[in-house]
Amino acid sequence: MNSAAGTLYVVATPIGNLEDISARALRVLNEVALIAAEDTRHSARLLQHFGISTPLAACHEHNERDEGGRFIKRLLAGENVALISDAGTPLISDPGYHLVRQARAVGIRVVPLPGACALVAALSAAGLPSDRFIFEGFLPAKQVARRTRLELLREEPRTLIFYEAPHRILDSLTDMEEVFGPERPAVLGRELTKTFETLKGLPLAELRVWVASDSNQQRGECVLVVGGWQAPQGEEAIDANALRVLRLLLAELPVKRAAAVAAEITGARKNVLYQLALQEKSSE
Ligand code: SAM
Repeated sequence: MNSAAGTLYVVATPIGNLEDISARALRVLNEVALIAAEDTRHSARLLQHFGISTPLAACHEHNERDEGGRFIKRLLAGENVALISDAGTPLISDPGYHLVRQARAVGIRVVPLPGACALVAALSAAGLPSDRFIFEGFLPAKQVARRTRLELLREEPRTLIFYEAPHRILDSLTDMEEVFGPERPAVLGRELTKTFETLKGLPLAELRVWVASDSNQQRGECVLVVGGWQAPQGEEAIDANALRVLRLLLAELPVKRAAAVAAEITGARKNVLYQLALQEKSSE
């Protein structure tokens, strides 16, 4: 650790409700020499509200990699710097990663000041399993890439959390319903901590219909929390590989033989495979 250098404070700011700023955040923002902000005009309004007159400098995704050196120089000269983003916790779908990495690489102390974060706020009130979860950030905007991403997550057992732009919420819900199935539980957290805060929990198909039928639900900022994949229980339990093998064999062999060979190859139970093979044949 470079003890002559200043400290880089990574400071969370509110995601809507200004009362969510912490006393510690206010003190640190007042005391540091400089605040590195994603959008200086946006943050100037926040600081003005709290009567803070610390100078601001831009640190956004387009200049962070190259201009980070500017902040590092000041830190190495012994000044303390705070990093903030437009809302919530910096680095969480927001700039700051390169600056924090550069600072740590040269031995500068980096101190987090925790606070608001939309994904944590949504998860904490969604009522879906919260012991294990994954944060996927924003899905790709284009449908093909979005579906590909969702396909990769189809059998993810942990609770899934996504950020989404309001004009894409319906498209994303439609794709999720298609890929994860209509019954998968989901919670839409919209405008959290603000006047029109909504937390609506429904199976994906019903949630999509609910959002489609009310254009107000397609406005504002949103987080989607989706229940993880649950492995089928008991008789129905069969892994994807056994099913794939069964399907390949069914194209070449009679039902009974295909089930027997698939059982031999995969170790799955023959009578379960036989029932599945019958279903596959009858749905052709
Ligand atoms: N750094 C922020 C955080 O800690 O949550 C996230 C920044 S990211 C650029 C902005 C996205 O976060 C929005 O598009 C939305 O998905 C989510 N978000 C931010 N504020 C929100 C709020 N009040 N309610 C719901 N979602 C919010």
